[in-house]
Amino acid sequence: MPIYNSPTKDMQFVLHNLLNVSAQDVPGYDDLDAEFTSAVLEEAGKVATDVLLPLNAVGDTEGCVLENGIVRTPTGFDEAFKVMKEGGWTAMDCDPEYGGQGLPYVMHSAAQESFVSANMAFNMYQGLTHGAYSAIHAHGTDAQKQKWLPKMVTCEWTGTMNLTEPHCGTDLGLMRTKAVPQDDGSFKISGQKIFISAGDHDLANNIVHLVLAKIPGGPEGIKGVSLFIVPKIMVDDEGNLGDPNGVSVGKIEEKMGIHGNSTCVMNYDEATGYLLGEEHKGMRAMFTMMNEARLGVGLQGYAQAQIAYQNAVFYANDRLQGRAVTGVEYPEKAADPLIVHPDIRRNLMDQKSFVEGARAFTMWGASLIDRAHKNDDKDADGLISLMTPVLKGFLTDKGFEYATAAQQVYGGHGYIEEWGMSQFARDARIAMIYEGANGVQALDLVGRKLAQDGGKHVMAFFDMVKNFIKENDGDEALKADFLEPLKAASKDMQAAGMYFMQNGMKNPNNALSGSYDFMHLMGHVCLGLMWARMAKAAQEALDAGDTDVDFLNTKIATGKYYMARQLPATAMHLARINTGADTVMALDAAQF
Ligand SMILES: Cc1cc2nc3c(=O)[nH]c(=O)nc-3n(C[C@H](O)[C@H](O)[C@H](O)COP(=O)(O)OP(=O)(O)OC[C@H]3O[C@@H](n4cnc5c(N)ncnc54)[C@H](O)[C@@H]3O)c2cc1C
Repeated sequence: MPIYNSPTKDMQFVLHNLLNVSAQDVPGYDDLDAEFTSAVLEEAGKVATDVLLPLNAVGDTEGCVLENGIVRTPTGFDEAFKVMKEGGWTAMDCDPEYGGQGLPYVMHSAAQESFVSANMAFNMYQGLTHGAYSAIHAHGTDAQKQKWLPKMVTCEWTGTMNLTEPHCGTDLGLMRTKAVPQDDGSFKISGQKIFISAGDHDLANNIVHLVLAKIPGGPEGIKGVSLFIVPKIMVDDEGNLGDPNGVSVGKIEEKMGIHGNSTCVMNYDEATGYLLGEEHKGMRAMFTMMNEARLGVGLQGYAQAQIAYQNAVFYANDRLQGRAVTGVEYPEKAADPLIVHPDIRRNLMDQKSFVEGARAFTMWGASLIDRAHKNDDKDADGLISLMTPVLKGFLTDKGFEYATAAQQVYGGHGYIEEWGMSQFARDARIAMIYEGANGVQALDLVGRKLAQDGGKHVMAFFDMVKNFIKENDGDEALKADFLEPLKAASKDMQAAGMYFMQNGMKNPNNALSGSYDFMHLMGHVCLGLMWARMAKAAQEALDAGDTDVDFLNTKIATGKYYMARQLPATAMHLARINTGADTVMALDAAQF
């Protein structure tokens, strides 16, 4: 069975050395001292390893089954869900007014990493609930919040997000699901939604579906979409469960991965629904929680790469093949372990330097979400909005890439299900697709986010990188290995931005042909900045006499690898961007 040890020490390093959370002026952050966060994260790690990890392969092989209209989850999921609920893990950052613990989102994200690494499919039941909770919390009336949230915080009732229909996923303006107003103020919802994660299951006694639908007579296209709360079982004003609503499961999809999570076709047949937020403003309501949801999916990407990496390291130390080219290292053994070989090292360093950079990027993003929500900080809100497509798109692309890279360390054994490496890659794959396919994330970044608020947020990010380089210019330890590569990468990013400004207006295809490259270019700059900051923080800790010398030196060495071997990818992305649309659009559709 695959191993998993929560990287608590690395998380602590990000929280305290990089982000210095307890010194930040964000409400609730002053409670986040190292002792407290360590205790929480150690405990989350234990749950992940002891409870969730053993069920990962079970969920993969058994999958979910539809029996007499009800979805049965894999063996053991029910017990594990109880552990999550009773431990309060579903309620960490939820509002205390509705029974949550009120911890900052950054802590929720850190704990989530362990749960997602250990069992991504299982964790989605509570992940989707959290998304639905956030939407109701942001847009519900007081009565709606009182009625739905307390039971969603504890996951006594779970939640789902229903956007996709058979003929529309990205282009939701084509939506056909209807919501017909009733005299009592409710709506009758009719239509079919597909691919609904956690759409039905036996882990909770009710499911609160959030469903996008169109009210007849409203504006055409996306402007006519509204959001509704549609419970599986009706709930009266006292919170008691009543009759089943007109909601049924058409089927469970057979799919490549995340078998432990039920992906359902949902049929709404004059189901009773309640408007959430304003009429025809459904997409706006959905979007307020997108930053969180997309950060959560980006996290899924690197969390799968993280567990795959841990197993690859174990295997590389265990498997004996060949001899080190520079001389035998283990003469007493029949051969040296894989880890002596430079190409295996390259592969492991790629994985390690990505995952640690991705964690820092994600937790920094989570801290921006805290700042935006708790301090009502508009700049933080703008910055996280800019970063969201990068967090989602770059981290899931790379997460999948490195989950398969970890498979490669196992050679043929990586392809054999018994070792578990295939599951990590298969599970990671979906994160590139759902919550907005990555091509659409790139479109959002270049088509919308760069120009948002007159380009203010992207300029703020450029300045952040520039200022870091300038402020640390005299630091010889950082200069050659961190500041110079960061400066070069940041110049590539600015040059790409300039290309879009000069050529995108002339022909939008010029910008959109380079959007995917730009998303990756910017992702590299973000991780480069994280690594430069982490190297500085590690050096400062060493200078201050921190005795964890090996850990801190490993951080710096891993960062140097990222800057030397990964960051130069920005030059390639810029070169591609600069070629515009000519080669991309050269063929007629008929020539493919
Ligand atoms: C396992 C699984 C779980 C899911 N869970 C949920 C869920 O819980 N709730 C839910 O509502 N949905 C869910 N989805 C649906 C998912 O979000 C959609 O599949 C996704 O948004 C893409 O939509 P689509 O499949 O219709 O692809 P399409 O929209 O048809 O897109 C196909 C391809 O074209 C690209 N594309 C589309 N438009 C453009 C454009 N304008 N410019 C450039 N490229 C474009 C896309 O990037 C994509 O690569 C899930 C899907 C799966 C497979």
